[in-house]
Amino acid sequence: MLSCREETELMSQRLDRPLSSGERLGLWFHLLFCKGCRATQKHFAFLRTATRAWREHHDVDSIPR
Ligand SMILES: [Zn+2]
Repeated sequence: MLSCREETELMSQRLDRPLSSGERLGLWFHLLFCKGCRATQKHFAFLRTATRAWREHHDVDSIPR
């Protein structure tokens, strides 16, 4: 089982690249038992949604006319 620090690192990397099935399984398993990392994951999920929304909005606005 990975440490909380490593799990958080994986959650961060998941924003930039797809995780391997082993990594996803490790993360899922860790989250079952670790309340702290579940809270962290919620934060990352929010961050991902917010970043995507911002990018879409920004791209629309930055199209040259
Ligand atoms: Zn943890």
